[in-house]
Amino acid sequence: MRVIPISLPTPFYIGPVNVYLIAEDPLTIIDTGPKTKEAIEVLRAGLRKAGFLVSDLRRIVLTHAHEDHCGLAKSLRDEAKNAEVFVHNWETGHRHSRLEYEEHRKLLVRAGVPDDEVERMRRMYEGVRKYADSFGDDEYTSLWDDAELEFESGSLRILHTPGHTPGSCSFLREADRTIIAGDCVLKRITPNPVLSPDPIDPSRRFPSLAEYLVSLARLRSLSPTLVYGGHGEPIRDYEELFHRYFRAFQERQAKVIGLVAKTGVSAWDVAIEMFPRADDVHRFLSVSEAVAHLDLAHTEGKIAYELSGQRDVYKPLA
Ligand SMILES: [Zn+2]
Ligand SMILES: [Zn+2]
Repeated sequence: MRVIPISLPTPFYIGPVNVYLIAEDPLTIIDTGPKTKEAIEVLRAGLRKAGFLVSDLRRIVLTHAHEDHCGLAKSLRDEAKNAEVFVHNWETGHRHSRLEYEEHRKLLVRAGVPDDEVERMRRMYEGVRKYADSFGDDEYTSLWDDAELEFESGSLRILHTPGHTPGSCSFLREADRTIIAGDCVLKRITPNPVLSPDPIDPSRRFPSLAEYLVSLARLRSLSPTLVYGGHGEPIRDYEELFHRYFRAFQERQAKVIGLVAKTGVSAWDVAIEMFPRADDVHRFLSVSEAVAHLDLAHTEGKIAYELSGQRDVYKPLA
């Protein structure tokens, strides 16, 4: 099975995104890049170099529905005529053109984010949204954990690996234990467990960090020899990366618990303390990070929690 990585430019801070062409029948692309002229041009060139055109694509598979990964899905599908789009059912927010905005807003208010900051985050969302088309429920096929994407000479096993987003998926080629992992595994940075409504009950937060740790352990149990991430070079030593991630999580966890004051703190207070200079998208990500760690610390019985008015307040254990 020929896996051809193609690196595409993005307008985002993270830099280029990797998409993966599976050069086999039915011709499949995993992730698409953002909806920009630059990305589609580089993608066309990459396909051409491998001997294909966009119109040859039969399957467009998304690791998750962030704009840098899913932005071109609709344009590619329309150009390829009978190509089918696959994404996990739980990637709801982005699929519906961020109809979940209202739910996100409630989660931010509960995290103690002041109104003007919530408004600033909303405007930022509007700016990012234009890099992807949304599509409706009848326009995609859901990916299912443990199901196979069949190819002429083998298959890729779908692994639901939630954490970065609720519906993040990875793809395992069992023959040589190669994994395409999207933003679940990145070589140079620890991926963010992004604040998301729970797909089962959108009034609640998705327990992103707890789920993420399970996903990382699951990938480890498969003893991967090579992991292709959504950004940066592939990872040959997953074991090393796994331990590095865990150390980073533990350090951050200790720091977050240290910031929980007797008088009670919100996730926003913790985010400001940890990342005083974060702006823009990083402001949202720093709140995500604080919520993820506070939730996990509370679940593990390390801190106390109470709902005070509309806000979640965390306190040291009595
Ligand atoms: Zn992502
Ligand atoms: Zn990404």
